[in-house]
Amino acid sequence: MGYKKILFFSAVLFSVLTFSELVHGQNAAVLARAQQISGDRFTFVTRTPRGAAVYGVSRPSRAMLAAIDQGLTDLFAVARRNRYRTRLNYADYTIYIAKADRTKNADGQYSPDIAVGAAQYAGSEYDKGGYIYAAGMVVAFSPSAFLIGEHTTNFARVSEVVRYEGEHIVLYHNDRRRYQATADHSQGGGHPILQ
Ligand SMILES: [Zn+2]
Repeated sequence: MGYKKILFFSAVLFSVLTFSELVHGQNAAVLARAQQISGDRFTFVTRTPRGAAVYGVSRPSRAMLAAIDQGLTDLFAVARRNRYRTRLNYADYTIYIAKADRTKNADGQYSPDIAVGAAQYAGSEYDKGGYIYAAGMVVAFSPSAFLIGEHTTNFARVSEVVRYEGEHIVLYHNDRRRYQATADHSQGGGHPILQ
């Protein structure tokens, strides 16, 4: 035996290590970006019962975790109806639960949203003076990650926001042209995208 086999084994071991280091590096970069966008520090990390990774400013409630799973379940169902196959596993997703920067919208309805830089929405009806209120925001496509606001009630809205942010990610990985056509809501259009 000897040498050749050992060399092969060590080569495999080496590639496994570097892959996990690579994943770790990507995850750290995405976490940093989520913190930068939201202005929060995500010190709690857990998983939903179905396996999505969740980061929170505080310990995510069971109702939040269940609502996230429901939103992903709804997303995967509608994605399959559209014959999309990629990124339809709970473990593919990382959700950051940010502190809400408002709890009510202009109509006075419960609407925990995150203030983010206006970017392409500057000057639009959404612009509140350099920032906009967003129910959710995609942070990264690989790994697939997005931000949502923390809810203490109306968890059906959490499921909806998860499904809607997930639509952008599913489209990005399955139908890049349709992704491009629907990504920027300042050009009109909204959610749901997938029927
Ligand atoms: Zn959207």
